[in-house]
Amino acid sequence: MAKGIFPVEKFQSIQTPFYYYNTELLRATLRTINEETGRHQGFVVHYAVKANANPHLLRIIREAGLGADCVSGGEIEASVKAGFPCQKIVYAGVGKSDWEINLGLDNDIFCFNVESIPELEVINELAAAKGKVARVAFRLNPNVGAHTHANITTGLAENKFGIAMSDMDTVIDEAEKLPNVKFVGLHFHIGSQILDMSDFEALCNRVNELQDKLEKRRIIVEHINVGGGLGIDYEHPNRLSIPDFKSYFDTYAKKLKLRPGQTLHFELGRAVVAQCGSLITRTLYIKKGAQKQFAIVDAGFTDLIRPALYQAYHKIENITSDEPMEAYDVVGPICESTDVFAKQIDLNKAKRGDLLAIRSAGAYGEIMASQYNCRKLPIGYMSDTI
Ligand SMILES: *Cc1c(COP(=O)(O)O)cnc(C)c1O
Repeated sequence: MAKGIFPVEKFQSIQTPFYYYNTELLRATLRTINEETGRHQGFVVHYAVKANANPHLLRIIREAGLGADCVSGGEIEASVKAGFPCQKIVYAGVGKSDWEINLGLDNDIFCFNVESIPELEVINELAAAKGKVARVAFRLNPNVGAHTHANITTGLAENKFGIAMSDMDTVIDEAEKLPNVKFVGLHFHIGSQILDMSDFEALCNRVNELQDKLEKRRIIVEHINVGGGLGIDYEHPNRLSIPDFKSYFDTYAKKLKLRPGQTLHFELGRAVVAQCGSLITRTLYIKKGAQKQFAIVDAGFTDLIRPALYQAYHKIENITSDEPMEAYDVVGPICESTDVFAKQIDLNKAKRGDLLAIRSAGAYGEIMASQYNCRKLPIGYMSDTI
């Protein structure tokens, strides 16, 4: 039974709400990633720090040998602090500030994923001031849709991210003129929570076309970075606790035509950390309405915003009750109507004091927490040190 995976006794003395991370599952997930990439020549995985920057998790991920994919100066700092080697840090982002670029330069990070010509010029200027040459990859917008929520597709022409493919030649020419940047690769990222491998296949086809075009100019880049986006099973966190990395990496191995000596980089966030995390919350009140009953809990969207932000589904379990199932709306205490975790779901009959586990919350959970309503930020506890 799923409840068996939680040390409920230990939970009783901890102030709720809090995040609980199963480090054993995280380590097993990382082992699977390493096994699957190990089958393919030149595959390198970076962890997308924005999914969860809890320092304990970062350390475990760094120990497994992954690199770090950052989207801000703060994430570069967190990665360096967690011990990621600077030559394994990549930095993307549509709006990099000067101090953030300087931080990347000072740390000699592996690569800046550049999203516009003005940005390229600024990196060149700042690198020149330090007498350095910055390695850059161009983030191209492949105009590939992903079958996922509209708010989390990034690879369509209408999105703010990346450089249009039709501008690829122009940016490469521009980079060649600038002495303090070195063009080393192409970068892509089409979205998140993608479960349909044909979306990744579409990206592979696009990359192949671009590589053919570049070859006509006798350019073979050293690095191709296909971003992240592999989804997880929010419905079945127990049955499918490790995502299907085999299909994911095999798809790229089969469909993307790497040139000799090229390295293929991945930036996985959600697929690495989502399933190992749960938000543990205490039931405050059971309120019976005319048509339904509410389980009012002490966690709100300040602790986990995904349901409010993109109607995301998280499986919820009552981990302190074996009573028969009843239907509940699980809602938080925040003064906003969107502060709802789930509507009309079945839970073992709940009473005041029961602990609920909101599952698959390791990615884009703790890191997105806010202090709205002057609430406290949730603490993250590790299963091996709790
Ligand atoms: C968010 C992001 C990722 C990670 O996405 P996941 O869906 O969590 O795997 C990777 N690369 C870039 C550039 C991103 O913005």
